[in-house]
Amino acid sequence: MTWTGGCLCGAVRWESEAPPITTRTCWCRDCQYLGAGSGTVGACFRTAAFKVVGGMTDFASIADSGNRMHRRFCSTCGTPLFSEAEARPHLIFVRVGTFDDPNRASPAMTIWTSSAPRWACIDAELPRVEQQPPPAA
Ligand SMILES: [Zn+2]
Ligand SMILES: [Zn+2]
Repeated sequence: MTWTGGCLCGAVRWESEAPPITTRTCWCRDCQYLGAGSGTVGACFRTAAFKVVGGMTDFASIADSGNRMHRRFCSTCGTPLFSEAEARPHLIFVRVGTFDDPNRASPAMTIWTSSAPRWACIDAELPRVEQQPPPAA
């Protein structure tokens, strides 16, 4: 079954023929900017089965992990959609808020908990990693 989503204004649409490999909540400092104070929830898809249409802005930066990252936003409404590490071009992390149905993915792990503010709500049932876990396969 196809997985679909897009930004708030509808200018960007994405789809994947394959399900996500994993979904994680991330509390790294960069994600707190993107998540407006909260962490972000990202589902990791394989780029080989992934398609995007629409105009986006790309912001490149070096992550806490040392990876050079590209984050893409809708150029019209500013919704954060994707993050990609140059070291792993076969994977794309998709913000779960952009799913047409966010219930289709749920986090399996919380990462970068060492950077979370003291008031962060972190799911006690899920495994936690203080910093960056090993890359997804
Ligand atoms: Zn938009
Ligand atoms: Zn993060």
